[in-house]
Amino acid sequence: MTEKPFNLFVTESANSLIISLFNQYKHMIHNKYLYSKVFFTGLVIIFLSTCQPESPPASPNMEIWKFSGSSMGTSYHVSVRVSAGSVTRKQLQQGIKNTIDTVDRQMSTYKPNSELSLFNRRRSTSWQPLSPALFKVLSVAQQVSKLSDGAFDITVAPLVDLWGFGPSPSPDRLPTATEIKALLPAVGFQRLRLQSQPPAAAKQLPNLQIDLSAIAKGFAVDQVAGYLKNLGLSNYLVEIGGEVRGSGSRPGGQPWRVALEAPVTGQRRINRVITLHNFALATSGDYRNYFEKNGVRYSHTINPRTGYPIRHKLASVSVLASNTMLADALATALMVAGPKAGYALSSAHAIAARFLVHTGTGFKIKETVAWQRQVD
Ligand code: ADP
Ligand code: MG
Repeated sequence: MTEKPFNLFVTESANSLIISLFNQYKHMIHNKYLYSKVFFTGLVIIFLSTCQPESPPASPNMEIWKFSGSSMGTSYHVSVRVSAGSVTRKQLQQGIKNTIDTVDRQMSTYKPNSELSLFNRRRSTSWQPLSPALFKVLSVAQQVSKLSDGAFDITVAPLVDLWGFGPSPSPDRLPTATEIKALLPAVGFQRLRLQSQPPAAAKQLPNLQIDLSAIAKGFAVDQVAGYLKNLGLSNYLVEIGGEVRGSGSRPGGQPWRVALEAPVTGQRRINRVITLHNFALATSGDYRNYFEKNGVRYSHTINPRTGYPIRHKLASVSVLASNTMLADALATALMVAGPKAGYALSSAHAIAARFLVHTGTGFKIKETVAWQRQVD
């Protein structure tokens, strides 16, 4: 199946609205080489039932408002329950967009003047001040790197770029082993030092480069959730590029329903619907963002130790965590670790994770005990 980017698939049935979201990676659109080779095979997340005519609203004054748009090179969708008159639709729409755009201006590697791009460009190895937001994301990224023994590593940026998944235009050929090897010394999360008072970071190598693509979307989801909470709104579903956070309940008091999509090329199949009131969920998949060359699929997830895109039987990993930023980073970490080591790692640290592993004929599911405890 070849899907167009910016494809929002909406099916309305008698009592449910199914929104299947197709990831929209701006860099694919900007990058002709990748764009021509990428097959959008569907997304991991489908939202279910934000509209339930048979279930009466909790209060006659409560309405559900939906907002969507593009930012951070992807799409976002927000559903929020509001009581009439408490806030205007326009105010919410702008507030949500501003919140996400602010994170983009801080953490994008595609915006040459983002806070992160400026940090990346500076060759100095002395301490550089950081905004509290950037400091927070870098800190969590470093924690996940330590936990995963470097499977997750935001200093992977030069390799991401070399493989054509970064902001630089990619050549119409694969990188050579020599090119990959040459970049490895500049990759390593231990080479980024952080201090909290005042928030600052120092590169141990002048050419250290940071890529926050695997964690910034999750952070932006949390920021939108915080924005809504500050307005006194506690019933919402926020999704950016497939990373989701839910709070409270749908109209009628039922939990939010989120469907995990089966990673079947060319089909939109629901693998599992989970129902939760308060949750932060992220999914990393091998079939959403990749290119194919000579029959080989090259994932946008890079093993920072080897310099090559991951190649194993893990189709996707979903993680539930206390916040979406953490879930986002952990999902990528486990994706790099692979089916066996990833499962062992998440079991050892009581991470709620669900693995879909290709078997050759289909796929099998492995869930950690922590996942099973949270999901009925
Ligand atoms: P997924 O949903 O597949 O996890 P994300 O967008 O969350 O996708 O993260 C993948 C992106 O993270 C890549 O496009 C790249 O920019 C960056 N990345 C690739 N490999 C790693 C890694 N090992 N650690 C951290 N970030 C990575
Ligand atoms: Mg991620």
